[in-house]
Amino acid sequence: MKMVMKDESKKFARLCQTMIEKQIVSRGITDPLVIQAMSKVPRHLFVSEALIDSAYGDFPLPIGEGQTISQPYIIAEMTQSLELKGNERVLEIGTGSGYQAAVLAQIVYKVYTVERNNMLFLQTRKLFDSLKYHNIVTKYSDGTQGWKQESPFDAIIITAGGQQIPTPLIDQLSIGGRLVMPVGGNFSQELIRLEKTKDGIKTTNLGACRFVKLIGQHGWDE
Ligand code: SAH
Repeated sequence: MKMVMKDESKKFARLCQTMIEKQIVSRGITDPLVIQAMSKVPRHLFVSEALIDSAYGDFPLPIGEGQTISQPYIIAEMTQSLELKGNERVLEIGTGSGYQAAVLAQIVYKVYTVERNNMLFLQTRKLFDSLKYHNIVTKYSDGTQGWKQESPFDAIIITAGGQQIPTPLIDQLSIGGRLVMPVGGNFSQELIRLEKTKDGIKTTNLGACRFVKLIGQHGWDE
């Protein structure tokens, strides 16, 4: 965990509140659980020291290893689209900085998060320990294959883009479950929300977005 002085924490709490008002609520995010969760998670602790003053800005930020932490609004939109109530078990593919998992962990019963980059995996696992996020479990592997032993999941969120939704992830979603993922080409994607019902699969397009690549067996080649 980064060292932040007491009066510094107040400054960051204010920046966080401004982020919630200007970027989240004013753009139409209404789910109180999402708003509360994002008000609580100290986003500045999920970025490097050098970027700490930009942590609550209206843009994605680099987190090392060529990866990025999404813009706050995208985090809010994806989280809201999962329609979480509190008792869910959620799978995240692409742990990265851990910020998205931390937001989910405020809302749901348990978060399972998978990362394929060893450096980010180790660094973020340590951060979860130091911040005492006890309902997040981590795994170092290719997330395009999901996490079969722990399936089915009530919701799945993929925070990297691919050309299609990996079939193992659809298989590991429970009936009634929701999944959200950026689907498309190399440089831009559409945010796709999928719902699995007993009658089949329903998808909706939430709009354009831009994510780093989902790399793996059911994703892009390395
Ligand atoms: N949710 C993250 C976003 C990180 S960027 C956050 O809140 O910071 C996307 C992450 O997906 C990167 O860390 C990248 O290494 C990871 N990734 C890409 N392909 C993956 C795969 N097949 N399995 C697991 N993680 C993957």
